[in-house]
Amino acid sequence: MRPARALIDLEALRHNYRLARRLGGGRALAVVKADAYGHGALRCAAALQDEADGFAVACIEEALALREAGIARPILLLEGFFDADELALLVRHDLWTVVHAPWQVEALERTPLSRPLDVWLKLDSGMHRVGLDPADYRDAWQRLRALPHVGAMVKMSHFARADELDSTRTAEQLACFEAVAGDLPGESSLSNSPALLGWPSACAEWARPGLMLYGVSPFTQAHEAAAALRPVMTLESRVIAVRDLAAGEPVGYGARFVTQAPTRIGVVAMGYADGYPQFAAAGTPVAIDGRTGCLAGRVSMDMLTVDLTDHPQAGIGSRVELWGAQVPATAVVAHSQTSSYRLLCAVKRVPLQYRG
Ligand SMILES: *Cc1c(COP(=O)(O)O)cnc(C)c1O
Repeated sequence: MRPARALIDLEALRHNYRLARRLGGGRALAVVKADAYGHGALRCAAALQDEADGFAVACIEEALALREAGIARPILLLEGFFDADELALLVRHDLWTVVHAPWQVEALERTPLSRPLDVWLKLDSGMHRVGLDPADYRDAWQRLRALPHVGAMVKMSHFARADELDSTRTAEQLACFEAVAGDLPGESSLSNSPALLGWPSACAEWARPGLMLYGVSPFTQAHEAAAALRPVMTLESRVIAVRDLAAGEPVGYGARFVTQAPTRIGVVAMGYADGYPQFAAAGTPVAIDGRTGCLAGRVSMDMLTVDLTDHPQAGIGSRVELWGAQVPATAVVAHSQTSSYRLLCAVKRVPLQYRG
């Protein structure tokens, strides 16, 4: 069997969820969209089922998969519904929906439902992706509130730059939200992971942590609150071949890497088809049998190469951690042209093995 695999520590996931909830000071929807950021949504949701206040996914397809797997907790659709035809299904499966656009308000007005649907009404407070314009928000709120088939209404918005701790933008978005929606009745939800960790002033009744649940910091710099997170995924494989090369020898496609000195190269069964970043630079950290090492040469589809010169004890069969307990995912990101979010979501082909 190919030795590449991703170990998923569900106890760490629960630890991170508890931390997120504690930081938020209220309730928290565990964001498990995109297959729980590559960690397996069904297993992750099942592991959190007893303590999560609810879950958030991108769309109804992701929500129905959770319902079919027996997840009974509330589930919020972050992109809302795409078509008025979906509304009856949302009610039948007891889903909550974001409403972010005027056409969705109209669709709800036109579509009577057998049971009240809970709505999270989203304000565009400055991210300019989805959300109602500040000028339209209160009118939409009043119109939905008047509908007998709308149940609880939560006011929400989303931050564009909460990971930039020195930016004034998050405070400006917060002020916009307060000015537009502050005096409307009902609960609020603002914080994603960087806001939970870095902007306590944004705390409201509901938080929506995603990335931090998986134990990865949203910040590029060291951060005290983020240091308490525990990595959930360990991506690992083994050395499957070793080459002793003289100075001046190329390694891999395109000869992008040429040895500067006699070098012992280890070939690891892990490549970009597994989700390892294709453009991770030479020098990207790995752990080889528990000791710090680094990439040497270009990542290919199924294999990558590491420098074993300073690891004389290592050889065929040595365990290589690409990220996880020893190598922070953020350290890999710092050497690759990617983000922590995409790093995790990209993981595929490798079997996911759960513990905890
Ligand atoms: C994905 C998403 C989140 C979670 O964001 P993280 O930065 O991963 O914590 C929260 N809210 C909305 C609307 C999202 O789309």
